[in-house]
Amino acid sequence: MTRWRSYHTPSTVEEALALLAQHPERARIVAGGTDLLLDLELGHESPVEMLVDITHIPQLTQIQEDDREPWIQIGAAVTHGRIERDPTLRRVATCLVEACSVVGGPQVRNVATLGGNVAHALPAADGTVGLLALDAQVQIATWREGQVDYTWHPLPAVFAGPGRNTLQPGQMLTAFRFRPPGPGEASAFDRIMRPQGVALPILGAAVRLGLDPERGTVAHATIALGPAGPVPFRATAAEQALRGADPTDLRAVEQVIQAAQAEARLRTSRHRASAAYRHEMVAVLLRRLLRRTVDRIRTAVPLGGPT
Ligand SMILES: Cc1cc2nc3c(=O)[nH]c(=O)nc-3n(C[C@H](O)[C@H](O)[C@H](O)COP(=O)(O)OP(=O)(O)OC[C@H]3O[C@@H](n4cnc5c(N)ncnc54)[C@H](O)[C@@H]3O)c2cc1C
Repeated sequence: MTRWRSYHTPSTVEEALALLAQHPERARIVAGGTDLLLDLELGHESPVEMLVDITHIPQLTQIQEDDREPWIQIGAAVTHGRIERDPTLRRVATCLVEACSVVGGPQVRNVATLGGNVAHALPAADGTVGLLALDAQVQIATWREGQVDYTWHPLPAVFAGPGRNTLQPGQMLTAFRFRPPGPGEASAFDRIMRPQGVALPILGAAVRLGLDPERGTVAHATIALGPAGPVPFRATAAEQALRGADPTDLRAVEQVIQAAQAEARLRTSRHRASAAYRHEMVAVLLRRLLRRTVDRIRTAVPLGGPT
């Protein structure tokens, strides 16, 4: 059975959006294809008229440090493998690097992209959980009367529900950006998998902390969990509980964990874990990640050891 009629490899965003505009309901973007081609093959997605492969667009495959603004920018078609190996990201985006490093195996990571991970909008997607903890923004390109309009949005704005994003026909994700950590800041990601698990985790979590240099208390915190609701989840009550607290104080950490457990919407899933087990894993991951993040801040050792 034919899954698509034509396959295109545009070299600019303009070209890609113009192609997609020819069949607003029947053309699909493909990046690494590790989600989409499988879904087409298994019949979870209806056959389409056109696939538009965005991985040959140089603008979408860049990792950039902006000289004027303190932003790090990652193109939507950058693969997990490149993120895993990139020396700048290993220094400034530890939780994202750790998250992308566990996606599938090397074959998957060498083609699967961060943009595909976000656009697929699964609440447990690892790269997405890492990006969320960096408080990242997403760039959306919109095709308007033959021109491309670029806008930046907070990352959560693209999630509509499990496996559903808010993009309209004529739109695509083009990049992500986040502020690099300053002194006294670090991040970490970890996940709990079933033995021999190859795809999504039982639970993943990422934490980014900034410590007050004099008091050692938390000046700012972001905590992302997945799956912990219909969309990738920021544990804002737990973040609030951490602010001003000593992250090495065991009682304070237990309060943060209780806040996260109370706000997370944990489900029982047939193939992965019960809600009760996930509830316990919130505690395991947060204890582990808070300790690891504080150690990173105190020792200032980048991922992979001293350089
Ligand atoms: C064996 C295996 C193991 C896996 N393990 C993991 C894992 O451990 N953790 C995990 O999180 N995921 C895992 N995945 C899922 C998958 O690899 C990731 O979600 C991956 O990041 C998807 O990226 P892609 O480039 O392949 O997306 P594609 O399959 O090309 O696209 C996915 C969806 O996003 C849309 N899309 C892609 N790019 C854009 C864009 N720039 N703008 C708008 N829409 C876009 C497509 O139209 C499609 O709907 C696994 C998959 C396989 C096959």
